Amino acid sequence: METSLERIKQTITDLSKFNSSELPGISRFSYSRDDLKARKYLMDICTGLGLAVRVDAVGNIFARYEGSEPELEPVVSGSHIDSVKSGGMFDGIVGSVGALECARVMKENGYIPKRPFEVVFYAEEEGSNFQVPVMGSKILTGKLGIDDLKKMKTLDGETAYDTIKKAGFEPDKIPEDVIPEGRIKAALELHIEQSVRLDLEKHTIGIIEGIAGCQWYRVTFKGKQNHAGATPMHLRQDPMCAASECISKVKDMAKETSPTAVATVGFIEAKPNIPNAIPAEVSFTVDIRDIKNESMDEIAEKLVAEAENAAKANGCTVECECGATSKAIEIRDYMKETMKEEADKLGLDYIFMPSGAVHDSNYMAEITDVGMIFVPSIDGRSHVPEEKTDFEHIKLGADLLLNTILRLTAE
Ligand SMILES: [Zn+2]
Repeated sequence: METSLERIKQTITDLSKFNSSELPGISRFSYSRDDLKARKYLMDICTGLGLAVRVDAVGNIFARYEGSEPELEPVVSGSHIDSVKSGGMFDGIVGSVGALECARVMKENGYIPKRPFEVVFYAEEEGSNFQVPVMGSKILTGKLGIDDLKKMKTLDGETAYDTIKKAGFEPDKIPEDVIPEGRIKAALELHIEQSVRLDLEKHTIGIIEGIAGCQWYRVTFKGKQNHAGATPMHLRQDPMCAASECISKVKDMAKETSPTAVATVGFIEAKPNIPNAIPAEVSFTVDIRDIKNESMDEIAEKLVAEAENAAKANGCTVECECGATSKAIEIRDYMKETMKEEADKLGLDYIFMPSGAVHDSNYMAEITDVGMIFVPSIDGRSHVPEEKTDFEHIKLGADLLLNTILRLTAE
């Protein structure tokens, strides 16, 4: 069985016409008129294929392709169909159309999987309406509830609860629609990379080996504010020197700990921040990311140790506070192995790579095993009208998705 390049191209092109704005590119917010049209277009295709379509309390759509053993937990696959303002026509759509294409191929071949297969179209992934990204999958995994929707607002001040209700959905039913852990065998997502690596290195497919988590630290050195001219070097307690010594080591902390880890100092603040005084205080942030939680912990330990050394060497004190954290998500070995074997069989040019951005899969990982496949973004551009991925690459990604679904639904 093989996916159809023509049908994928046609469906993606058709969906790009549901566009609410005169701005360049695609603007299709969840619950807008064009979103409702795009949903109807997709649901009509699913119904035409004989799939049972279920729409949950906030508009996540599940279309079920029945298996020969309907009591088994389904394999699900899909992505989101909303966009950012003036975004592109591939983000989310590639995974939505890719999963739909898998159902179409099974149907035209008269194939009945052992486990059921469900195509999913997630609602409100981009956070375009309420500035809360990944809302649909957060709700279906129980991470957000009715009370949250009553607090979240559009820029015009309408609550998410009201917006969703007006669009014809039933947010009061959220508690019934939360999917408990273990009810889904696996959730797969095909997505554009949204960065430059695949395109630069000229690979067709990225098999995701882990989804990066994040740890944020704020490091604050305190010294003694004094005159820049009159204070001899050996009598200074200079927090700027301490901070710079520590910051210069951050790059190596990441590189030496894990090949997939990254660490970034993106914010720095000096007090009082004037040119002719040794500062009293200097603080900066360190954003640490990796697909392994242990590596992030290790980098954080190194950071604290280096900060203490730098403080001591400069007669300062230091405080390292941990701010927001999100856990890294491990991809199970069987998932990576299955995708690798199927990619080999298809003769694809693939690499294993981490996913740095947040996708619906990050939240689906709370309730099931997830797997992700990336296809190249030309020049790495995304969330812009110029966002582009070759249809041939999308087809190859969809073929790998199809073969992975066939394997997992047969188990
Ligand atoms: Zn996306």
